[in-house]
Amino acid sequence: ATPISITTAAGRGAQAGVLIKDAEALERMARVDTLVVDKTGTLTEGKPKLTDVVALGDASEDEVLRLAATLERGSEHPLAEAIVAGAKARGVALDKAADFEAVTGKGVTGRVGDRRVELGNAALMQAGSVAIDDAESTADALRTEGKTAMFVAVDGTLAGLVAVADPIKKTTEAAIRALHDQGLRVIMATGDNRRTAEAVAKRLGIDEVRAGVLPADKKALIDELRAKGHGVAMAGDGVNDAPALAAADVGIAMGTGADVAVESAGLTLLGGDLTGIVRARKLAKATLRNIK
Ligand code: ADP
Ligand code: MG
Repeated sequence: ATPISITTAAGRGAQAGVLIKDAEALERMARVDTLVVDKTGTLTEGKPKLTDVVALGDASEDEVLRLAATLERGSEHPLAEAIVAGAKARGVALDKAADFEAVTGKGVTGRVGDRRVELGNAALMQAGSVAIDDAESTADALRTEGKTAMFVAVDGTLAGLVAVADPIKKTTEAAIRALHDQGLRVIMATGDNRRTAEAVAKRLGIDEVRAGVLPADKKALIDELRAKGHGVAMAGDGVNDAPALAAADVGIAMGTGADVAVESAGLTLLGGDLTGIVRARKLAKATLRNIK
């Protein structure tokens, strides 16, 4: 291909829905060899749907769902929206929660009526000393299907599970293949469980999976890769992803995500899918040939 100027690259990028912050971002993009991607909202649509409700104690399925969804009304997490919408679709009437608290990367806690409810991953249950051994095999079966399984505890005892599935974006698989063809190694970093993460990664041919990572760990992963001499791009959509985006050689914000993600990024993908990265990489290479 013919070398092009930064201005031309920026123009072509904008036409393709890729906003380029400055020449440096583009130049660094040409030297990147590793792409770290967040799962939820980046590889997947980020609009999960409720798929399963499992009752394990005295409470019925509807009661488990009512308690879970009542609590999630206080959360803005995509998982929360799926649980609330799922409850409404099933005609389950919601209550009002009190003492609501969101625990980053783990789940939510609060009170519904006179009961204390905890909803989230195994780490949250562990923090609340809730025994989940009896439910692990059920949770694993759901995860193997690529679903996110969440535990629901009532007054410190496991009451059930809810599961949601987040469809993979139609464009993701082809984009990952194109990124591989461009010589990039693709690592998925997610707060989600290992089994769920691996089910999704396997479908997409992702090279490496870091599961169960907290937002601070995503930044640590970027630092670790850069310390090894890799040029690292990081693509994410959430407020949680901002520190990692800022730490990467090139932060890539999914334009459909949080504003703070966009502010921390060198590139912003307006279309909200990875195809823009393939495009940006091509433009970056063409520009670099011109600079040299
Ligand atoms: P990701 O990196 O995939 O965007 P997060 O870091 O936001 O995921 O969340 C990690 C895990 O914490 C989720 O998979 C879920 O098990 C749990 N979690 C987080 N927020 C909530 C919530 N509002 N309700 C239930 N579970 C949650
Ligand atoms: Mg996310």
